Amino acid sequence: MKIRHRLGLSFSLLLCLLFAIAAVSLSRISNLNTVTHTLVQVQVHRAFFAEKAIHYAEKAALCLVNLLKTIDKKSRVPLYAEMDAALASSDQAVEAIRETLKEPGQQAALARLTKLRDDYDAEFRETTDTIEIADVKVAMAYFKSHTQHSLNALLKGARELADDQQHQMERVLADLSRAEANAERLLIVLSLLALLIGIGLAWMMTRSIIGPVALAAGVADAIAKGDLTREVPMGRQDETGQLMQSLAIMRDSIASREDKILRLAYEDSLTGLPNRTRFIEIFKQLPEDQKGAIVVLDIDRFGAINNALGYAVGDRLLSLIGERFVAAANQAILVARLWGNEFAFLLLGAEADGARDFADSLLLMLKTPLILDGQRLDVGATLGVVVFPTDGNDAAILLRRATSALRLAKKRRVSYLFAAGVSEELAHENLSLIGEMREALEREEFTVYYQPKLNLTKNRVTGAEALIRWQHPDKGLVPPYRFIPFAEQTGFIRNITPWILILVIRHAAAWRRAGLEVTPSVNLSAYDLLDANLIGYVRALLEEHGLLPQQLCLEITESALMEEPDVALKHLNEFSKLGVKLSIDDYGSGQASLAYLKRLPVDELKIDREFVTDVANSPKNGAIVRSTIMLCHELGLSVVAEGAENAAEIDWLRTQGCDQVQGYGIAKPMPLADFLTWLSRNFV
Ligand code: C2E
Ligand code: MG
Ligand code: MG
Repeated sequence: MKIRHRLGLSFSLLLCLLFAIAAVSLSRISNLNTVTHTLVQVQVHRAFFAEKAIHYAEKAALCLVNLLKTIDKKSRVPLYAEMDAALASSDQAVEAIRETLKEPGQQAALARLTKLRDDYDAEFRETTDTIEIADVKVAMAYFKSHTQHSLNALLKGARELADDQQHQMERVLADLSRAEANAERLLIVLSLLALLIGIGLAWMMTRSIIGPVALAAGVADAIAKGDLTREVPMGRQDETGQLMQSLAIMRDSIASREDKILRLAYEDSLTGLPNRTRFIEIFKQLPEDQKGAIVVLDIDRFGAINNALGYAVGDRLLSLIGERFVAAANQAILVARLWGNEFAFLLLGAEADGARDFADSLLLMLKTPLILDGQRLDVGATLGVVVFPTDGNDAAILLRRATSALRLAKKRRVSYLFAAGVSEELAHENLSLIGEMREALEREEFTVYYQPKLNLTKNRVTGAEALIRWQHPDKGLVPPYRFIPFAEQTGFIRNITPWILILVIRHAAAWRRAGLEVTPSVNLSAYDLLDANLIGYVRALLEEHGLLPQQLCLEITESALMEEPDVALKHLNEFSKLGVKLSIDDYGSGQASLAYLKRLPVDELKIDREFVTDVANSPKNGAIVRSTIMLCHELGLSVVAEGAENAAEIDWLRTQGCDQVQGYGIAKPMPLADFLTWLSRNFV
């Protein structure tokens, strides 16, 4: 039964009881009133008139006695009047009693009294007649012999009636007090009954309402504390049952919302894979002595795929790759998408060899081309690997180390690197190379190589990229990737860049004087782009050597722009104002989009060699390079394809309208003298 019905019923019951108590009280009061009324109106009335009848009868008798004593006739006249008045009053009193006496028992008493009164009246009249007809003495004798007796009998009768009325009154009073006692008892019983029913109902209500409500409060409290597994007791049909049902619905909706929030916070919406936060969270839950490896994977040239084929294709590609990764993973492998085109794998229980095998299997798997909208896409990847707990036991640090290894692997153009190997190598190189760099500069161990840039329209070398080399006395020719990163990290690049700028501007000025229209390109690092003095420095050098600003090109990588974009952009604008040519290097290896690049004051874009390699045979690379060339031309940028290694690639690039080509297919980087010789032999 519903609570509202129960409450309604209980209160109705209580109200009925109260009504009964009130009704009993009212009826008793009304009874009391009637009895009191009877007492006052009837019994007292009768007693009063009985007394009155006695009184006037006695008075009349007294008058009669006085009459009997009054000899003089005249003197008896007032006495007669007085006597008649007394008798009339006595008769009136008896009449009044008669009017109220209706009960049959009382009628007999009244008849007897009337008879006595009539008898006395007759004797009384006889006495008065005797007084007037005979004389007073005879009358006196008659009075004593007859009338006196009748009077006594009448007085006795009246007294008996009065007494009887008195007794009746007492009886009624006794009845009344009995009835009152009964009413009192009834009221007490009813009140006790009401109290008991009230207590019973209150107890029942407490049990049926407070119990479930307290239970519901407990459930709500548990929900508030985040315990969404607490069972909600069901089954009641009343309002508390509805409350429980609402609580269950609330708990379920909170749980589903929490689930959704958790999913949003922990799941990558594109691939449905765990995200970086979740990856770190899962790692944190591993036992301390857990062994394993983390592999971070970066899809090569993804930025360019996005730009060339559109973000929608890029997104679908990522989900497709994600699906492949999940299919390749087993129970002991967790796949996550860290961000953009970076995925991470947590290999539980794996050691270095296992991680290597896994990395190889991933690379092998990616060799199977992906088909998207019927279009074949070749996707490559670079990986960084860490092994725990050897390389650390903090997820964020491990991820960072794996990512650094991955970045270095990209720079070195290898498929993957182990962080441990890298750091050992770096530590070793750090010690040996960093310390030596300063002296190397002083001892002029650094040198510059030039790699020609062939202008495909003019079929002539119009530019050359200046690439630093370290001619180490012990280690031989050290490639830039082995010391430039440290030079950038330690700030030593501040010395290298000016040094190479002096050298290159001097060489270029000499080429111009010799009639060689070749514009050299110098690579700037992120650090250089943040250096406000570099612009003035370049301007001064150009003036000093008589080289026009447009006869020098500066190459900047996308990542260099990302460090402090505002400052970098400001300096780029100043370089642009100065008039030097600006070129975006390694386009496609990072995340930058053409939409972003078009806001930069650049003249040239160099497509990363990853795309150019095998461009003639790979339809995907072909599509990317072709569309990049078209877009660049629309944006007014000249395009350089880096890393063209053979004639087929160069021809393909020429047919696609590429402006310049740089690569082993033209020539490898060469020392200045060799470069000049090469130039004179081939193109001049
Ligand atoms: P980068 O600026 O993209 O230079 C092009 C790199 O691609 C050069 O490597 C070049 O030798 C290589 N390359 C060109 N054509 C081909 C090809 O057909 N096949 C292959 N496999 N490779 C080719 P390098 O000289 O080892 O330079 C590596 C990187 O070091 C440069 O990449 C540049 O980022 C940096 N670097 C070199 N010199 C300097 C410098 O003076 N200053 C700064 N800040 N960085 C420099
Ligand atoms: Mg470059
Ligand atoms: Mg490059």
